[in-house]
Amino acid sequence: MKSLWSDKEAKQFKGDLGKRVYTSRLLGANPELVLHGGGNTSVKVREKDFFGDPVEVLYVKGSGWDLGTIEAPGFAPVRMDALLKMAELKELSDSEMVKQQRAAMLDPGAPNPSIEAILHAVIPQKFVDHTHANAVVALTNHKNGRQTIEEVYGDRMVVTPYVMPGFILALEVAKALKKVDPYAIDGLILMNHGIFTFHDDPKRSYELMIEHVTRAEKFLAGKCGKKFSLPKAKPEEDLAGLAEIRNKVSQLRGVPVIAKLDQSPEAVGFSSRKDVASLATRGPLTPDHTIRTKRVPAVIGKDIEKSLDKFAADYTKYFEKNAKGETMLTPDPRWVVWPGKGVISFGATEKEAGVIQDIVTHTWRTIQLTEEAFEGGWKALPAGKLFEIEYWELEQAKLKKGGSAPTHQGKVAIVTGSAAGIGFACAETLAEQGAKVIGLDLSPDIGEQMAKFGGIGKVVNLTDDAATLAAIEDTVRDFGGIDIVVSNAGIFTAGAYLPDMEQTNWDKSMAVNLTSHQKLLKYTIPYLKKGTGEPAIVLVGSRNVNAPGAGAASYSCAKAGLTQLCRVAALELAPDGVRCNIIHPDAVFDTKLWTPENLKRSAERYGMTVEEYKTRNLMKTEIKSKDVGRMVAAMASPLFGKTTGAQIPVDGGNDRVI
Ligand code: ZN
Repeated sequence: MKSLWSDKEAKQFKGDLGKRVYTSRLLGANPELVLHGGGNTSVKVREKDFFGDPVEVLYVKGSGWDLGTIEAPGFAPVRMDALLKMAELKELSDSEMVKQQRAAMLDPGAPNPSIEAILHAVIPQKFVDHTHANAVVALTNHKNGRQTIEEVYGDRMVVTPYVMPGFILALEVAKALKKVDPYAIDGLILMNHGIFTFHDDPKRSYELMIEHVTRAEKFLAGKCGKKFSLPKAKPEEDLAGLAEIRNKVSQLRGVPVIAKLDQSPEAVGFSSRKDVASLATRGPLTPDHTIRTKRVPAVIGKDIEKSLDKFAADYTKYFEKNAKGETMLTPDPRWVVWPGKGVISFGATEKEAGVIQDIVTHTWRTIQLTEEAFEGGWKALPAGKLFEIEYWELEQAKLKKGGSAPTHQGKVAIVTGSAAGIGFACAETLAEQGAKVIGLDLSPDIGEQMAKFGGIGKVVNLTDDAATLAAIEDTVRDFGGIDIVVSNAGIFTAGAYLPDMEQTNWDKSMAVNLTSHQKLLKYTIPYLKKGTGEPAIVLVGSRNVNAPGAGAASYSCAKAGLTQLCRVAALELAPDGVRCNIIHPDAVFDTKLWTPENLKRSAERYGMTVEEYKTRNLMKTEIKSKDVGRMVAAMASPLFGKTTGAQIPVDGGNDRVI
């Protein structure tokens, strides 16, 4: 591990707090040291309060900030005298500690101070750096962890046994520091938790962290031996199995989840170990990971459903054994090990799944090193200790706050023909309501268009079977399944009376406006049947179906066929809980097809102004793409959960249809 300190960069950060921001970011830049909100740092300064009186202040990392991207407002200013007084108490509940720390802040608008603030205060040095470095916890998490730490660090570090982070840990550290000259040591090792380094100089405090973690890394590598490398294997892919796992995990969690499958050679290598069921389920690297990952993953056996039911039953037992009046979390795994196939991480959002994947990847890498290096192998904290963190009162308080999730959160939606117009509006509305949207379109703009709201665009010709199937399989591989299909891609074919119609006009309309939809359904239905959150298909038809016009046979007949396809699909899919409905929009003019000149010409043909032409329906209202998008999102939602095989017009009222 190398120091990232640069004198030139450091100069741009002014004052003690500036330097604190700088070295905190350096720590945060290395995922071997901290991950996603893990770790914390502080600096002690003497400054003047609002009234001009001198005051000692601890600027400590606030909750909700990541070290890698922290800024000065991410540090909470807390009065040192209050923190030191708290360190004299015999007892202090976590919620009371948070309250008193907030009361002692110089700025009530600052974030909540880290729960390790009192610990930072009792260390006399100006700068304090704390991480949950992988290599350090790897040395502590085995049978003879304490002995190893003493062998590696000698008297440079004070070692404290594992206790619950927060107030009790602060007392433990204060006690340990009283026995030594704090200026004669470089830091602290907290068994099964992490490492602190400290110094009056910011660069030195940071570099002590790098030096001591490097020492741990070298020791670990030496123990594993030069020849050792993590096992690797090729995955056997099973997308249907992946969708089934995601479906079951969503059921256990009570909401749709995004599944991130890691089938890298090392992830598959880990999942294929003979001892994986034991090794993966001994516990996390550091206790605070349990809040995100739970204590252990599920290991999938021959029967997916049974394996996950067993996990839920075991989780319930673990809760009942350890609970003292807490509210049980949902019994779903946050990650699973799938032998021969890889490791899957889940989240109610894509972001959460990504955070869990990062933590889990460091976990399975590190535990394999400890397993290799030390006699007796990987050994985490006992379940009861981890339960205290998973269920500690501040986490329980967050549960009660709750709040409702967006309608389509955690769902995966495919929208075809979504580079512009109605398709774009459908994709955008579904994304606004929380869905992960994958847009398929012939247009090369699709990627850029979908990126506007965090979606993914793939250039696909939907009449090309192989390309369509590949795009669908990619979607399942990347997110774990498909819950919503909006089949919208279509073309307007030139108007022509039957005797004069070019055969290609008819054939093209059938290929794009009908057959490509039939194929999309054929390929997506197996995944929709394993979809979550009341899976749905919405087809985009046309007012033409129920009110056709002369000279539009190729378009109208394809859309009429599509309507019949919807009805048959509704009949076939009802037993699996998948709904299929069709929307019939009319006169949507805010699309690329309608230029102002086009509109003017058409209006003139009817002897109308453009305004009259745009609103020529019973309600005299203009229909916009977004109106159709909102209706499609509603039809895909639980609002339409008991409706299938229906045709819904969005046309402002049409007397020929009514
Ligand atoms: Zn910590």
